[in-house]
Formats: sequence, C-alpha cells, structure tokens
Amino acid sequence: MGGIFGVVSKGDCVTDLYFGIDYHSHLGTRRGGMAVYTEDGFDRSIHSIENAQFRTKFEDAAARMHGHVGIGCISDTEPQPLIIRSRLGQFAITTVGRINNLDELADEAFAGGRTQFLEMSGNRINPTELVAALINQKSSIPEGIRHAQKKIDGSMTLLLATAEGIYAARDYLGRTPLILGQKWDGSLCASFESHAYMNLGYHTLRELGPGEVVYLSRDGVQEVLAPCEKKRVCTFLWTYYGYPTATYEGINVESSRYRCGALMAKEDAADGLELDSVGGIPDSGLAAAIGYANESGVPFHRPFMKYTPTWSRSFMPQDQKMRNLVAHMKLIPVHDLIRDKRLLFIDDSIVRGTQLRETVDFLYESGAREVHVRPACPPILYGCKYINFSRSTSDMDLIARRVIVRLEGGVPSEERLALYKDASTPEYAAMVEEIREEMHFTTLKFPSLDTLVESIGLPECELCTYCWNGRE
Ligand code: SF4
Repeated sequence: MGGIFGVVSKGDCVTDLYFGIDYHSHLGTRRGGMAVYTEDGFDRSIHSIENAQFRTKFEDAAARMHGHVGIGCISDTEPQPLIIRSRLGQFAITTVGRINNLDELADEAFAGGRTQFLEMSGNRINPTELVAALINQKSSIPEGIRHAQKKIDGSMTLLLATAEGIYAARDYLGRTPLILGQKWDGSLCASFESHAYMNLGYHTLRELGPGEVVYLSRDGVQEVLAPCEKKRVCTFLWTYYGYPTATYEGINVESSRYRCGALMAKEDAADGLELDSVGGIPDSGLAAAIGYANESGVPFHRPFMKYTPTWSRSFMPQDQKMRNLVAHMKLIPVHDLIRDKRLLFIDDSIVRGTQLRETVDFLYESGAREVHVRPACPPILYGCKYINFSRSTSDMDLIARRVIVRLEGGVPSEERLALYKDASTPEYAAMVEEIREEMHFTTLKFPSLDTLVESIGLPECELCTYCWNGRE
C-alpha cells in the first residue's frame, strides 16, 4: 500500500521528516522518497528500499537537506515524491492510493492538450504524475485537488508541498487515513500513521474527514475544503495493515484485534474445544490470539518464531519460489510447544491460503497433534479494487472463490454467490468445510462480518467491507 508523511516546521524540518517517513516502513517494501523545499528550490531523493531499510538509504539525503517544508513516502508502487512546475507554480507531491481509470484519465488529458507524461513506472504512467496533471487542469490547487478526487476511480490520499506549506488531502471516501499532529513549537505534521510523530514531540490535533483538504503553514492549519459525508474506511487497516500502535478514527489497531480475538473465543465457547495453547501467525495475528487466550483462559504460546535479525521484512525477492523459500526459512519451531499439542492459531485472514497451509504442514511436521485455525475476518470473496492492497489478487485466485467454483461446478451467478456470504446457509458451511480440508486444518471457523465490525466499533456504513460482501 504505502504511507505518506509531511512536516511544516518553525526550524529545520528534515530530522522530523526522516524519522516520520521511516515510521511508515511497515506499509511498503519497494521505494522510499523525500522532498524538502530548500533555499534553491525543492531537493529530492528517491531510493529502492527492497534490500535495505529507509533510514540506511536516506541517511546522506537527510544530512544534506535543510528546509522548513518537506514531504515523503514509503511506496509499494511508483517512485515519488514528484517535483512539478506548472501554471499553479512549483510543488512537490506524494500520494497513496490506486487509480483504476488511469488510462482513461490520461487519454482525457491528451485530448485536452497535454502532450506527454514524463514519469513512467513499470511501463505505465506514474499515477502521482497523473494526479498532478489532474490538479493542474484547474485554476487553483484546492480546486484541482477536488477535481482529482472526483475523477479518480479507486482512492487517493495526498500531500502537496509548496515553498510555504503543505496541502493535505484525504481520500474522497476516507478509505485511507490522514492525521494532523502539532509540536510544542508550533511545527505541524500530516501523517498516514498516528504513531509516526509520537516520539518526535508532536501530539495529535485531529484526523481529516473523507475528502477534507487542509493547508499547513507556519501560521497554523487552515481549512481549505470541508469533509464530505460518505465514508468508507478500509477495514483491513485494523485487520492487517495497521501497525499495532496506530489509531484510525480514534480506534487503536491492537485493541481492536484483542476485541476480535475475544469475540471469536466467545463464539467458540459452546463448541467445547480442548486446546493446549493459542497462538498467532506473526505479526498481525498475534494480538487477536492474545485476545482469544485472555477470553478463553487457554494459555497464549508462541510455538514458532520469525527469525527477524537477518530476515528483515523489507527483503522481498521478485521470484515467487524464492519468496516461499524465504517465508519458510524465517520460521523456526519451538518443538517443546508443538509436539503432541492441540494448537489453535489465529491469522489475520485467508487470502490464497498457500502460505498458511505451508505453515500448518510445518506444524504437523514438527509434531503438532491438532491445528485449529481461526482467521480474524470472514472469507474474502472479492479482490480489493480501492487501494493497492499488497495481498490483493484477482477474484479467482482467492481460495474461497476457487472452492466455490469447485462446489458449483463453474463460476456462480451473483445470486448463487450471495448464498456463500451468508453464514447460516448450507452453501457457506460447505465452502468452509472444503477450505478446511484443502488446508489440512483440524477445525476452521471464520468470524461473521458483524463480529469483525463489532471488534472495530464503527458503524458498518462507515467501513469498506467490499472484500467480504462486495458492497461498493
Ligand atoms: S476492498 Fe478490502 S482491502 Fe480494499 S479498501 Fe475495502 S476493505 Fe480495504
């Protein structure tokens, strides 16, 4: 997915910018970038972070750059921030989101007189350059941002820095977050993650609403465009993406995962399962497992660990075979906690299922007697079309969809598919049993969407639940 961070400071902003971006490193593994307005205009640095962490790669840039205004990103897709000179002046821009109608918007731009896009990314127009082009179609930056928000099919949260300040704009439907922080000296930051500025001396001012645009300068925060009414925050921020310390819409990730685990334990209570321990698939399954263990009274154990000292998260080989090998090499079993044990594991979700099945086989090979699995969200039936979800895939690659096709003897109609979304139907039960068998689990039980929504604590209408029920 990626994350963005920007600072407008009274003194030099670079140290805060450097660490603030670094605290978004869990959101992406491909590229990092920072741009600072210096005496000579924008100074920018972009590096691959596939084999080294952001801080290592940007140490020199951070030492070189000096200024009061800066923005940056961790990106899983295109290189950014971009520096743009247009009729609206010079600015730097960084974005997080996904543009489904990129080619259509580019064609419209050509028809409107634009002659070229300079930044290509993986043989496609760089989405951030397209956003800049959309903004430049209007006569002011705020008008341009609203225009871009309305034209984009997908989502887009952005920071746009000028010589004097930063426009911070949250996605039109608020699928991705943007939060403001302020320091004792009046410095301001805009951040995807709420924990990114905590250790830098900032306190939270407020979160932007869907589609809201503000301007941060050394004079303070100015409202530019008011928030819109409709909201669809990505539910996966709590389930998978968010770092445990992050808070979105006032709801902390770790706490919501505890609640989800506790609710699943309550749902299991009547089944009379006999277990020796509860564990979580690291990292995002751990908190739900603690919640489950605390509620059920079954001890929480870590029957295997990730060897993180040398296998950093950012090490992501291109080749799938190599990725699988790395995933396997990272895991080290604790045989004492596995041999002859009845284990229950919580993972954040089951997408394709490949990696989880390998993990479960690895537990059996290590002597486990039973492996019960409880994903922390319902079966995923639709690939994400709103954000660059790193686990996203075409619908037919999703294990739940593959199983449904098998059970139905072909691709089901929407009417038939609806039966598999309803946990009270025999079709749903058959799907869960088929997944359980394919994955070699002793038992498998998904929480309902209501349980997931309850664990977060927001009204369902404010959450994006497209992955599970296809609601737009
Ligand atoms: S479809 Fe799923 S991953 Fe995508 S924004 Fe919605 S909840 Fe998040």
